Amino acid sequence: MVDISICDGIITAITPPGQAEGETLLDGSGLFVSSGWIDLHVHAVPELHPYGDEIDEIGVKQGVTALVDAGSCGADRIGDFYTRSLEAATQVFALLNISRIGLERTDELSQLEWIDRTKVLEAAAAYPGFIVGLKARISQSVVKDSGIQPLKLARTLSEETGLPLMVHIGSAPPAVSGVLELLQRGDVITHYLNGKPNNLFEEDGAPLQGLLDAVARGVHLDVGHGTASFSFRVAEQAKAAGIALNTISTDIYRGNRLNGPVYSMSNLLTKFLYLGYSLEEAIRAVTTSAAEWLGKPELARIRVGQQANLTLFALQAGEKQLTDSEGDVRAAHHYIEAKGVYVNGSLITG
Ligand code: ZN
Ligand code: ZN
Repeated sequence: MVDISICDGIITAITPPGQAEGETLLDGSGLFVSSGWIDLHVHAVPELHPYGDEIDEIGVKQGVTALVDAGSCGADRIGDFYTRSLEAATQVFALLNISRIGLERTDELSQLEWIDRTKVLEAAAAYPGFIVGLKARISQSVVKDSGIQPLKLARTLSEETGLPLMVHIGSAPPAVSGVLELLQRGDVITHYLNGKPNNLFEEDGAPLQGLLDAVARGVHLDVGHGTASFSFRVAEQAKAAGIALNTISTDIYRGNRLNGPVYSMSNLLTKFLYLGYSLEEAIRAVTTSAAEWLGKPELARIRVGQQANLTLFALQAGEKQLTDSEGDVRAAHHYIEAKGVYVNGSLITG
């Protein structure tokens, strides 16, 4: 138990309880506090359908103080999104879709001419710090007849911009083994616990050799739960095989926030507690681990002299039904509930 003193948004002291000076902003008795949660895969452009939502609805109102929009925008829209993001209470980063049209369509890599090298390079140069990587969705419904070619182009663009790739995996073709081969240290596989036929595990639960090799090269694994990409069965296989949990992200947008199976970051954290991960491991996956991938470790620090960037949450006892993307339902006996955030010098409670 500690008291955290904050003045003008800066942490001025961390002291034993009862020793802080000043007025009480919030009595956090019984609550946990962590550095602000970071969601590495969301869709935060409200006018896009189906993959869109309001920034703060999936950010600070959910306990998430920083989020990464995962490729909603390509070069055509990224400037507008950057301008919009400055008005939100939530800190926003973006992965630039290698397709200039982004998610204006859901087959954005089916035409190779939409991968416009010059526009990608211009956008990456125009928004440094905001654009933290490139996004390529490499699954059948997105690439159609383009096969693995969009990923090869993405690899070249990654080298030219110096930005890592986040690659979405899903149904074949292309086969996931061919996708894995093209990924390098610092790249991200999102949807790594998906339960589709082209997933990262054999039928008997053994991880593909290509996955083990990718992990050994330093490829980062991200949950990207979404509507269709999280399976309890596969998550149990991953845990049993000792595949490390890197980041828990939601792939949240309006539909799966309101109707499930995502609902909220708290709901996902609860799923990982249910799977047997400790509270510390689950919270690390949305704080330290995400901040390190972003190259911004300060986002995961609670230290005197730093900006206060905090999430308050409770661990409640009680039954809660959890549903994965396959319709598999499990019952948890403890659940996490976000209670509020402290960002930009003010407390926001949900
Ligand atoms: Zn995806
Ligand atoms: Zn997504």
